Amino acid sequence: MINPAKRTRSIELSLIRKMFEVTNPDAINLGIGEPDFDVPQNIKDAMKKSIDENETHYTPNKGYIELREEIVKKFKSDNGINTNPDNVIVTVGASEGLFMCAQTFIDPGDEVILPDPSFLSYEACIKMAEGTIVPVNCTMENEFKLKADDVLEKITPKTKAIMLNSPSNPTGAVMEKEDIKAIADLSMDNDFLIISDEIYEKIIYDKKHYSPARYSDNVITLNGFSKTYAMTGLRIGYLTGNENYIEELLKIHQYNAACVNTTAQRGAYEALTGPQEEVNKMVGEFKRRRDLIVSRLNEMGYETVNAEGAFYVFPKIEDKDFVQKAAKAGVITVPGVAFGSNGENHIRMSYANSYENIEKAMDILEGRVVNG
Ligand code: PMP
Repeated sequence: MINPAKRTRSIELSLIRKMFEVTNPDAINLGIGEPDFDVPQNIKDAMKKSIDENETHYTPNKGYIELREEIVKKFKSDNGINTNPDNVIVTVGASEGLFMCAQTFIDPGDEVILPDPSFLSYEACIKMAEGTIVPVNCTMENEFKLKADDVLEKITPKTKAIMLNSPSNPTGAVMEKEDIKAIADLSMDNDFLIISDEIYEKIIYDKKHYSPARYSDNVITLNGFSKTYAMTGLRIGYLTGNENYIEELLKIHQYNAACVNTTAQRGAYEALTGPQEEVNKMVGEFKRRRDLIVSRLNEMGYETVNAEGAFYVFPKIEDKDFVQKAAKAGVITVPGVAFGSNGENHIRMSYANSYENIEKAMDILEGRVVNG
């Protein structure tokens, strides 16, 4: 037996994936982290055409120039970020973007401020780069929104970076503009990097998304097509940042992936340039489901924030056996503690499942778990 390196032994496989392996196939899955919608037809057609035209060779490492030009326009119009195609890298999902940022910027012992709770990959990427995690609590009193004052308390001379994720997985929280701006100011005053994961930016209800890169040069902005266009399996995302950083990031991408697959790149181009009705419809439907799940959970006595984005709610549920009981009764959920110690006494429920299934799941929880 050859011992794997310490860096892999320091991390665990995702608890969420493990849960799916043990559950019964008929259960209603509120554990899922991807839209239950299909890729819009115009995007599928563009991908089929691309294959038929034999676009199956390598592309530039940063991605097709036409796609990067569209990404630049998107950053300008949606996010108020001025960039150019040279400073954009198309990545294998936002996942690769995260890994690239960690490998590019974090040296052993560098401190990285991480919202607690937050998406599992952040901790794993930081650990693989041998960074030190500095958690900052996102509390239910603040509707799980990360607050600039709390971040300020965590800054030390060793602070290298902070992870931001608004709207958030697992809480659905959308940060306030003044906190985004204040953290952006802190990044300039204290010379640290903001890694801003904006993958849920479009899945937002009655609220506006703000990108920290509007206010600071020390930002890598990550985004992708998985959530907005239901393209999870196609594995495509992108990032932008100051020109001084791009070449270093590109080294990690070049030796890890070379480039993103051609088919997904053509699909992504169509996603950005084609009609956006499907996105609007999907967001409207998510909102309807959010309203349903929040009101049903609150009625059951589980305090639940009316999350303003993504497709997750994070009710307060102190019953230690809740996840197991719910799974037995036929509803899959994820323990909040999987996302950080501050997630204890909470459960993540995804509403990327049909309205009818969410109703059924709530009936099951009410009948067989709360009162069972
Ligand atoms: N960031 C967050 C917050 C996510 O929830 C996810 C997907 N679960 C990702 C990044 C990864 O997305 P991608 O499919 O683009 O790699």
